[in-house]
Amino acid sequence: IDDRLFRNAMGSFATGVTVITTEVAEEVHGMTANAFMSISLNPKLVAISIGENARMHQHIKDANQFAINILSSDQQNVSKQFSGQLNGESEITFATYKGLPILEDGLAVVTCKLYSEYVVGDHTVFIGHVTGVKLEQKDPLLFSQGKYRELKELEE
Ligand code: FAD
Ligand code: NAD
Repeated sequence: IDDRLFRNAMGSFATGVTVITTEVAEEVHGMTANAFMSISLNPKLVAISIGENARMHQHIKDANQFAINILSSDQQNVSKQFSGQLNGESEITFATYKGLPILEDGLAVVTCKLYSEYVVGDHTVFIGHVTGVKLEQKDPLLFSQGKYRELKELEE
């Protein structure tokens, strides 16, 4: 199966966009990710899938914890910043929640302790045990078919 066909087909499954954040040796690191899902209610577990070549891969193992920042519709540039799609460094300010750096102005935050990890092909699936949740009244940023999009309600 052709890589491009696989990516185009996977990209037709519309998702939200998150930035994973963590801190190692007093340095904050962030990475854009859409491979995120809710796994279990009792206990509360979530999963993210991180490519083996991403710097975030080792950072999560070292920190043993991470935050998932669910982006709001006005944070397209934040997604671009943390996926290396912007030229030049922009200064990002982080708040602290449950001992983790988090983004300001997002739609929701889920903080986690690392619960388990599974090497799956060229990615590692990290399972997080949820330690905190924050939720704001905002619209989500969406990603579909390689483009950022906003929600539009269908007429009844
Ligand atoms: P880097 O490439 O070092 O960091 C990523 C970017 O964030 C760099 O530009 C860096 O300057 C910036 N940055 C990091 N920390 C800070 C900071 N403290 N302050 C300011 N800027 C900072 N990859 C996956 O493995 N899994 C996914 O689910 C996934 N989903 C994606 C979804 C979308 C919509 C997009 C666009 C990309 C996705 N990627 C995913 C790809 C991933 O975001 C990139 O490959 C990313 O560059 C890998 O980051 P890294 O950890 O190697 O770190
Ligand atoms: P794209 O067309 O490369 O991606 C569309 C979809 O394909 C993604 O939503 C994801 O479901 C899947 N995909 C893409 N690359 C993958 C990978 N290496 N491993 C597993 N699944 C993958 O979209 P784009 O706008 O060109 O993406 C920008 C960059 O971000 C690309 O370099 C892409 O590889 C990367 N990305 C990686 C993942 C991931 O690792 N899970 C997810 C999304 C985007």
